[in-house]
Amino acid sequence: MLRKVILAAAGSHRVERLVESAPVSRNVVRRFIAGTGSDDALRCSRELVDNGLAVTIDHLGEDTTNPAQAEATANEYLTLLDALHAAELTPAAEVSVKLSALGQVFDDKQAYEHARSICARASEAGTTVTLDMEDHTTTDSTLEILHKLRVDFPTVGVAVQAYLRRSEADCRDLAVDGLRVRLCKGAYREPESVAFQTRLEVDKSYVRCLNALMGGTGYPMVATHDPRLIAIGEDRARWFDRSPDEFEFQLLHGVRPDEQLRLAGLGYTVRVYLPYGTEWYGYMMRRMAERPANSAFFVRALLSR
Ligand code: FAD
Repeated sequence: MLRKVILAAAGSHRVERLVESAPVSRNVVRRFIAGTGSDDALRCSRELVDNGLAVTIDHLGEDTTNPAQAEATANEYLTLLDALHAAELTPAAEVSVKLSALGQVFDDKQAYEHARSICARASEAGTTVTLDMEDHTTTDSTLEILHKLRVDFPTVGVAVQAYLRRSEADCRDLAVDGLRVRLCKGAYREPESVAFQTRLEVDKSYVRCLNALMGGTGYPMVATHDPRLIAIGEDRARWFDRSPDEFEFQLLHGVRPDEQLRLAGLGYTVRVYLPYGTEWYGYMMRRMAERPANSAFFVRALLSR
């Protein structure tokens, strides 16, 4: 119930203004986000890499509404990739990209062109790109763009959301040719017609998707904080005879940092999803919805008005 309320608030500009103006917000935000600028992302990446972790950096921003905004986002990624290369943080650090931030909603051709230039720059910098998955209305377009990009950039990867009913079949299709697939539960508010609604159904779907990915010839990226699913990920890797360099775990920055280090200590690749930027509201609200215990700041911000 609270999850639904928070996800609804994620789309409200009025609530956004209230939360952003609350001083207590900033401390919570700092736990999950590197900072507002690319220098923050670089500094934080350096710390994580020095601790034996890999990183995927997300420049926060979604629902871009005009071509100039899309171009600015693409340029931000190009500059970031140059800086990561210059700081010798590649290939440990890669980037995660939301196609909506590149204009997918109003012009998917333009989003593709921007994604192409980001992939080209990543390739020059010796690193990779992963396409985030957003709400279900964008899944087909994102997968189409993925396949077009892979013709010239075979290392580009994509996220799949276990809560979508279609995802088990998608995972079977995607578990090929070293394709990098990030399996997550899914973070958006989706209707029952397209998505499983209960935790049990989503977890069972996650395991079916995991089986498809681990049993194929792609590169599975097991993105979850769920202790049971992490243990099942380890088990399936053993079952399908995958060595630690044939899959990886991924967790969000600020979530279960001890577990990140524990897994890395066991010899697994552990990649931390590290967001930065000024547009943190939508991202933070999805984190609050996942763990209402983190949402005290949000409630306080509303009550103090
Ligand atoms: P949950 O069901 O949220 O939690 C399960 C269990 O994990 C909890 O019971 C608890 O034991 C443990 N846990 C969870 N959070 C915490 C915490 N803060 N502290 C301690 N224990 C905790 N979603 C998308 O829709 N598209 C994407 O492209 C996308 N990319 C992602 C990339 C990465 C690297 C990760 C990790 C997630 C991504 N997500 C994405 C978000 C994802 O879909 C889930 O919303 C999010 O990961 C929460 O699901 P969970 O698997 O951690 O399990």
